[in-house]
Amino acid sequence: MKDYDVIIIGAGNGGLAAAVTLSLRGKSVAVFEKHNLPGGCGTSFRRGRFEFEVALHQLSSMGTSENPGPLRKQFREYGIENQIDWIEIRDLFRVNLPDGRGYTIPADRRKAEQSLSESFPEEKHSIHRYFDTVWRFCEEANAFAEKSAASSGEPPALKKLIMKTLFPKLYPTLAKYGLRSTQDVMDEFFKTKELQLCLSAYWCFMGMPPNRFPFSILAKCTYIYLTDKPFYLRGGSQVMSQALTETIRKNGGDVYLSDGVAEILLKDGAACGVIDEKGREFRCKKIISNISPTMTYTRLLKKNEIPFSARDYLKPYTVGISALTCFFGLDCPPEELGFTNSFTLNYDSLNANEDFLGAYSLLPEHDPIVATCYTVDDPEGSPAGTSVITAGSLKYSAPWEALPPEKYHEMKFKAADIIITRLEKQYPKLREHIEELEIATPLTHMRYLTHPGGAIYGYEQDLKSSVFFFPTESRIPNLEFASGWVNACGFGPNYMYADKVAKRIAEEADVK
Ligand SMILES: Cc1cc2nc3c(=O)[nH]c(=O)nc-3n(C[C@H](O)[C@H](O)[C@H](O)COP(=O)(O)OP(=O)(O)OC[C@H]3O[C@@H](n4cnc5c(N)ncnc54)[C@H](O)[C@@H]3O)c2cc1C
Repeated sequence: MKDYDVIIIGAGNGGLAAAVTLSLRGKSVAVFEKHNLPGGCGTSFRRGRFEFEVALHQLSSMGTSENPGPLRKQFREYGIENQIDWIEIRDLFRVNLPDGRGYTIPADRRKAEQSLSESFPEEKHSIHRYFDTVWRFCEEANAFAEKSAASSGEPPALKKLIMKTLFPKLYPTLAKYGLRSTQDVMDEFFKTKELQLCLSAYWCFMGMPPNRFPFSILAKCTYIYLTDKPFYLRGGSQVMSQALTETIRKNGGDVYLSDGVAEILLKDGAACGVIDEKGREFRCKKIISNISPTMTYTRLLKKNEIPFSARDYLKPYTVGISALTCFFGLDCPPEELGFTNSFTLNYDSLNANEDFLGAYSLLPEHDPIVATCYTVDDPEGSPAGTSVITAGSLKYSAPWEALPPEKYHEMKFKAADIIITRLEKQYPKLREHIEELEIATPLTHMRYLTHPGGAIYGYEQDLKSSVFFFPTESRIPNLEFASGWVNACGFGPNYMYADKVAKRIAEEADVK
């Protein structure tokens, strides 16, 4: 069988990006993917005359072609920027509240501040102070990350002590807000619950309620989506996955589909190859796992080969949340239903933390509903005169895993009925215009991604496991990780993180 410089387990965003980066540097790579399509979460499917996006609501870090963000620059280097029809999303989101009122946040800092100040004039001063704080926080975080990247190895004790003393002086906003929850910061700045819900809405992108969602991640999401704008693309995220796959093949790499890795081979404790699901053996110098460290260690290694240190290292991390999503193909344009914004977060009460607890139950009776209407910013995204909406809530898998199989079909349609009924309060004509309906539950995500709990954002990202504490380190030599399980989960973050890991590997002497 063929030998490779680097073997990649999984063709999700991280796996594909790592393979492109390495193949562009002349490395021989092979990607093994269990599913018959590349992309992982970055995919779409067809029902009737509609193409449904599975995961992507907003792509971050793109920027415009004149003022490119880091992800656009990466796609430019890959040669795929111009193969894709990028669609800029006008607004960050709209928050719909139980009294029928809604607030739209434009994707522009000045306009966002202005519109929120008009809606909440008594908090105008705090709104400006809040955005200034978010900006300062992110600038200090970037400066700190740059400085950390420039130094290597464990610093001596004296240097550590000096850093500890100087840190609050050099990075005062980072020191003050770095380890606080979103709710805590919202309470410090704002009196009005409605305003707090508007500015904390990105909690749903990481699946943690505001009282557990690290402010560090909220600040980063707010900053990057306002500076580099939220994007979508024509044809859905499968188009990006396909473009990356073709680039790997064009550069001489192999992408094996319907062919997962069944085992990682070790030699003297270090990774040296894999056995695929067809029983074939492939040798390599490095492995990059695009799946969870949990599954990598427990499913792909022999029991006696799992390092004890890996068990200890992963102990503090909890498998994260999954999702329940309804995919609606509608026989009318979005405006006929009242959808004027691409992304909406719909609340049944003003207490997001309490409503979030519905995520632990089977049905979406009170959980906040996330709804994305792709045809608002891309009218060509579905046949003329129609629209596509995905709507659902975040859900843990346990109640779905406990459901007797014969009840599954009935319960998923009951869940969809609840979501439709709840959305009808805001969009009364929704039900009568449904032409196609498909439903994904946590079990769907388990089946297609093979992730524990069908987790869509990796490990839970609460305060103790926030951006500063991701489990990036491998406990097996020559095995690395590049997936949403080891960094801030999401399309942009995964593409960029994998690029960084792959560039480092390409420079290593044994892979050169
Ligand atoms: C419903 C939903 C909504 C989302 N919304 C957004 C959003 O709006 N914006 C955003 O930025 N992010 C969003 N995300 C998150 C984003 O999609 C993920 O963070 C990201 O795609 C994960 O990429 P990954 O590289 O970790 O790989 P994954 O997508 O997790 O893919 C892993 C791949 O590994 C494969 N695999 C598993 N086991 C094996 C094996 N043994 N051998 C070979 N292959 C294997 C799987 O089949 C899969 O293809 C959303 C996700 C979901 C599901």
